[in-house]
Amino acid sequence: PLPSIPCFKMAAPPVQVQEVREVTRIERIGAHSHIRGLGLDDALEARNVSQGMVGQTSARRAAGIVLEMIKEGKIAGRAVLLAGQPGTGKTAIAMGMAQALGQGTPFTAIAGSEIFSLEMSKTEALTQAFRKSIGVRIKEETEIIEGEVVEIQIDKPAVGTGAKVGKLTLKTTEMETVYDLGQKMIESLTKEKVHAGDIITIDKATGKITKLGRSFTRARDYDAMGSTTKFVQCPEGELQKRKEVVHTVSLHEIDVINSRTQGFLALFSGDTGEIKSEVREQINSKVAEWREEGKAEIVPGVLFIDEVHMLDIECFSFLNRALETDMAPVLIMATNRGITRIRGTNYQSPHGVPIDLLDRLLIVSTSPYEEREIKQILKIRAEEEDVEISDDAVTVLTRIGMETSLRYAIQLITTAHLVCRRRKGTEVSVEDIKRVYSLFLDESRSTQFLKEYQQEFMF
Ligand code: ATP
Repeated sequence: PLPSIPCFKMAAPPVQVQEVREVTRIERIGAHSHIRGLGLDDALEARNVSQGMVGQTSARRAAGIVLEMIKEGKIAGRAVLLAGQPGTGKTAIAMGMAQALGQGTPFTAIAGSEIFSLEMSKTEALTQAFRKSIGVRIKEETEIIEGEVVEIQIDKPAVGTGAKVGKLTLKTTEMETVYDLGQKMIESLTKEKVHAGDIITIDKATGKITKLGRSFTRARDYDAMGSTTKFVQCPEGELQKRKEVVHTVSLHEIDVINSRTQGFLALFSGDTGEIKSEVREQINSKVAEWREEGKAEIVPGVLFIDEVHMLDIECFSFLNRALETDMAPVLIMATNRGITRIRGTNYQSPHGVPIDLLDRLLIVSTSPYEEREIKQILKIRAEEEDVEISDDAVTVLTRIGMETSLRYAIQLITTAHLVCRRRKGTEVSVEDIKRVYSLFLDESRSTQFLKEYQQEFMF
């Protein structure tokens, strides 16, 4: 069976789906929630602090030029490689690019090492990542009915099932219509607290009921009428208004929903397994049909692959081919390695990326931050997390960030805030920072600890 538009209604918007999938993914996206764009002016110059972005001006400028190429459709077949030390904002810049491309642009972030799992082949994992990063914007007309609620009847749930049934009578200017209520509509009625006399709209496609207001005089009449009133069923066609709605779903979501063995629930567990190539072929041709009919358009998103040196030669050749396809997303890769061995071969190459792929890449480098930049980023993060923090505490945190890593210092904001709340404080103090610094080890202290106690760990 070919996919039909109504089944997409069951899918939540892509971003939400991605966020519930995995704790690591939530962390990865959550850590960049302060990034709203690249912070560039009209001349594509980087403003020092803008849209949550701080410093790293030349990399941001370069990213801005890449964005222009993307917008002008000149990026096909190419990709971007962000090269720089850990914590220098590579993911932040990729995220900024996705934001700058506009709302509804899918952004998928994976680490190279995630591709290797026992559940699916490397190429399947990469294919899924590609298809998560391609949005399909589907235009649909839905019918909206607006009217005044005359009467609502909801029967008690049948024992053990929790199911309810009911009827809703709606009066528009000329006529009355009776609706059978589904469970979804009843939930929507309860949530909106709808009573007789309320003016509501019903979206016929989704069953969603929205309360617009109340007609007080008539409400009294209706309440008095109770449930004894009889109403006539009228033709519905004349009561309907039409409204265009647009959903954006990813190709991957369409794959999962239409894959017989998986079903849409797999989207929430993230456990989608491998998807048959026939399903994908059917979906590609269906989407092509919708595009021709003007019902859908493709929204190329951004696929960010961190630690790209973790991919092996087979993955790289997959990427080379995938970049050639007409629906490819913008591929942004990142690495903190210099010349290193290409996985799966005995050859060394810059960043562990084969020369033929390197040849297609626009390479952008990021550099370590200065103290004042780290301070600024920490302040922005504290604000983003709604954390009040004293100036002294920010100074101490900045020192920690310089000596350990920016990411570690950012982690301490959340933990110090918890400690502060526990002591019923309103502002994170130097003491709170010291406390969490001693409780949670950064990478180098943890390594030191392991070295010192090596004897105890090995038996
Ligand atoms: P890794 O190589 O370890 O993956 P990375 O270079 O991708 O590191 P990020 O994860 O982007 O580094 O940066 C660490 C944290 O600092 C993130 O929370 C990120 O949003 C924030 N950050 C980094 N650079 C900037 C910047 N220029 N402006 C604002 N926030 C930044």
